[in-house]
Amino acid sequence: MSQVNIEKKLLARNIKPTAMRQLVLKVLEEEDIALSLPEIEQKLEYADKSTIYRTLKLFEEKKLIHAIDDGTGATKYASCDDSCNCLPDDLHVHFLCVKCGKTYCFKDMPIKIESLPKNFIFESASFVIKGVCAECSTR
Ligand SMILES: [Zn+2]
Ligand SMILES: [Zn+2]
Repeated sequence: MSQVNIEKKLLARNIKPTAMRQLVLKVLEEEDIALSLPEIEQKLEYADKSTIYRTLKLFEEKKLIHAIDDGTGATKYASCDDSCNCLPDDLHVHFLCVKCGKTYCFKDMPIKIESLPKNFIFESASFVIKGVCAECSTR
């Protein structure tokens, strides 16, 4: 994704496109997998760790990225589609590869949350498929 598009994506979510924010978003946009905080830190080795963390929290708040609980214990982050509002309708399946440990977003596999029983309030949902990813299965 080009520098201009990175800036546009930030502005579209009302985020001031500082150099650091552009770097963090670029890292996430360049990957087709979800990244954990240590993985993002590794790609930005000269950046201050607490700044990276704060940037991710801001992105999450602004629904630019979504956090994924894939059951491994490490929260992973992936960019959202431009039309995403992180509502139940935007939920999708994630895939955890048991060989390489990579977590993929399957954005074209939505999770359908039917209406909950009376007085039950929705908070979050995760649907993780475990298996072997295309990269590992064809190796
Ligand atoms: Zn794999
Ligand atoms: Zn996802």
